[in-house]
Amino acid sequence: MFLKRLLNLKGTLSFRLTLWYTVIFIFSSLLALSIFYYRISSITMERIDAELLEEMEEFSTLRSEEGLEQVKAEMALEVKSEDEEIFYRLLSIDGQVLAMSSTQPWGRLEVSGNILRDLRDQSRPVLGTLDIPNYKYKVRTIYGSISPTEVLQIGLSLEDNEKYLKVFRDLLFLLMIPLFIFSALIGWFLSRQALLGVEEVTLTAIDISKGSYDKRVQVKRRSYEVDRLANTFNGMLDRIQALLKSMREMTDNIAHDLRSPLTRIRGIAEMTLFSKNSIKDYENMAASTIEECDNLIEMINTMLDITETEAGVGEFKIEKVNLSRLILDACELFRPTANEKGVNIITILPDKLHCQGDSNKLQRLVTNLLENSIKYTESEGSVTISASLDNGQVNIIFEDTGIGISEKDLPKIFERFYRCDMSRSKAGIGLGLSLAKAIANAFGGDIRVKSALNKGSAFLVTLPH
Ligand code: ADP
Repeated sequence: MFLKRLLNLKGTLSFRLTLWYTVIFIFSSLLALSIFYYRISSITMERIDAELLEEMEEFSTLRSEEGLEQVKAEMALEVKSEDEEIFYRLLSIDGQVLAMSSTQPWGRLEVSGNILRDLRDQSRPVLGTLDIPNYKYKVRTIYGSISPTEVLQIGLSLEDNEKYLKVFRDLLFLLMIPLFIFSALIGWFLSRQALLGVEEVTLTAIDISKGSYDKRVQVKRRSYEVDRLANTFNGMLDRIQALLKSMREMTDNIAHDLRSPLTRIRGIAEMTLFSKNSIKDYENMAASTIEECDNLIEMINTMLDITETEAGVGEFKIEKVNLSRLILDACELFRPTANEKGVNIITILPDKLHCQGDSNKLQRLVTNLLENSIKYTESEGSVTISASLDNGQVNIIFEDTGIGISEKDLPKIFERFYRCDMSRSKAGIGLGLSLAKAIANAFGGDIRVKSALNKGSAFLVTLPH
C-alpha cells in the first residue's frame, strides 16, 4: 500500500518539481561552498607564503649584517623555538650543503638543482610544495639567496593548515545534510502551493464528471496563472452548460416537431381504417400522409443543410454573385403571396451589387428572410429590402412592419427549432433563421436583428464584397 502510494507519488508534478528544486539547490550550494573552500585554502596558503618570504628576508638581512655564523646560530634557534615542523638548509650556490637542521620526520629531502640554477640567474625566492612519500602532510618550501654565494632553503610542514582545512571540510559536509533536507522540504512546500489551484480544478472536474455541471472553481487571487486557468476552466464549463441546455431544448423541440406530424399521420390512418370508407377517403389519406412526410423530409433536409454549412462541408463554391438580381428574383417569386396577404414589397437596390458566395446558398438566405418578413407581417403592412455597399462590405436589410419579436425572444430566434409563442399559429419549423445565419457565417458574414413588439423587425445581413 505504502509502496504503491510512493510509486504514484513518483509520477506527480509535485514530486518532479521538488526533485528539480532539490537538485538545483544542491548543485548551486555545492558550487558556492566549493568556491568558498577554495578561497579559504588559498588565503591560508598565501599567509604561509608571506611568512616564509618574511623569514627569508630576515635571514638575508642577518647574513649581510652579522655574517654566516650568525645565520647558522639563528637557524638552530628557530628550529628549537618553533612549535611547527620546520627545517632549514644552507647551501652554496653550486648545491653543497653548508649547514642543515634535522629533516625528521620527513626523511631525506632532495635539493632541487633546477631551482638553484634559477636562483643563479635571478635573485627572487622560489616557492614550492613537496609531496613526501612517507609523510602524511605536504611541505611548503622556499629557496632564496641570502648572499651572492649562499642559498637558504626553508621547509614548513602544512600539517596545521591541512588539519584546519579538514575541520572546515567536515563542518561544510555536516552543514550540507540539514541543508539538503531543508531544501527538499521547501521544494515540496513550494510545489504544493503552486499546484494547489491545479488540484482544485482537478477536483472540480471530478465532481463535474459525476454530474454536478453547475460546480465552478473558486477564483481566489492566488496567482495570475492559476486564476487564469480557473477562469478559462469556468468559462469552458459555462459554454458546455449552455450547449447542453440548448441541445436539451433542441431535442425537446425535435421530439415535439416530429410528434405532431406523426400523430396526425396515425390519426388519419386510424380514422380511415375504422370507418367505412370509399376509395376517395383512402386517396385523401394517402395525399395527407405524403404531405406530412414531405414536411418531415424538408425538416430533416434543412437540419442536415445547417449542420453541413456550419461544419463547412458539402458543396458550395465561392464566386461573384449579383445580389441585386438575386434579391429582385426572390421578390418576384414571393410577390403573389405578398399580394394575397395585402403586404407591399418595396426594394431599394443599386443597379448592380456583387458579393462573394455561393448563389444557391445566398438564394436560400434571401428567400428565408423574405418569407419570414411576409409571413410575420399582417395585411396593409410592408416589407422593405434595401442593399448597399459600405466600407467594403455588403449590407442587406429586410425591414417589415410586422408583429415584431419580444426582447426575451430576440437572443434565441437563431437557435434551431426556436419559435416565438406569437408565431406558433403560422406555418414553420423554426429552422429558417438558423440556416440563414449558418450560410452568412460560412461566407464570412453575419446576421443581426433589431425588433420592437407589434411594430416590426429589421434583419441586417452583412457579407464580404
Ligand atoms: P419559422 O419561421 O419556421 O418559425 P425561423 O427560424 O425562420 O422559423 O424563425 C424563428 C422564429 O423567429 C419564428 O418562429 C418567429 O417567431 C421569429 N421571426 C423570424 N422572423 C421574424 C419576423 N420577420 N418578424 C417576427 N418574428 C420573426
